[in-house]
Amino acid sequence: MNDRPARWSFRISALVAGVAVLLSSALASWAAPQKDKIDLIELTKQSQHIYQAEGKIVFVWWVSNDYWRVALAQSGQLAPEQIENTMETVRPYIVITVAEATVDDRARTAFKPEEDVRAEVILKDKAGVKYKPLEEDDISDDMKTLINAMRPAMTGMIGPLGRNMFFLCFSAQNAKGQDIIQPDKKGSFSVVVGDKEYKFKLPLDATVPKIICPKCKEVCSGTWSFCPWCGAKLPEPAEPDKE
Ligand SMILES: [Zn+2]
Repeated sequence: MNDRPARWSFRISALVAGVAVLLSSALASWAAPQKDKIDLIELTKQSQHIYQAEGKIVFVWWVSNDYWRVALAQSGQLAPEQIENTMETVRPYIVITVAEATVDDRARTAFKPEEDVRAEVILKDKAGVKYKPLEEDDISDDMKTLINAMRPAMTGMIGPLGRNMFFLCFSAQNAKGQDIIQPDKKGSFSVVVGDKEYKFKLPLDATVPKIICPKCKEVCSGTWSFCPWCGAKLPEPAEPDKE
């Protein structure tokens, strides 16, 4: 395709803008009404684990398809069909970013290099089946371009942590062609980093519409079955609106 480089640079700039939206909004208290029904800040918080103890720091971020879609939409720079193009690039993968650092007794932080991080990260599905990150050769050129564009943006915005957050891609499907993660269904998956396991319960709260308790009218998470205030059984949430 002749228009490929131009289209790519456009896609990339929008993605970087998406990251900028995420990071700047995480710093400011940002309560502007969203076009998208998913709250990007909530979604980001719920898809991250930060472990800090025993002289080490581990940061795990599941960059879900919902994240890509919402971040791109909120960047305000892309038409729906252009967002869809980018989604086609990310859909074959589960993207997990991991940073690991040791902190010595003089509070000096040393980040682990990419090979070391990659060697100890495993994805575990809800049945306990383990998956290793894909090798470079098994990742599409489009996806590699996308990741390479994210890195400098992360570094620019969050410094050393951003520079040492490595994007690991796992196949989105198992050998039987089934989705390893079903973000909309009740379940879970884990990211194992060394001897610790970081669990993600699905669906993430932020991706499920809120429910108003029919009895006491409190706002409840769409992932709850019962109202925590009055104990009433809650109705099933409406299907998330993805547009
Ligand atoms: Zn209630």
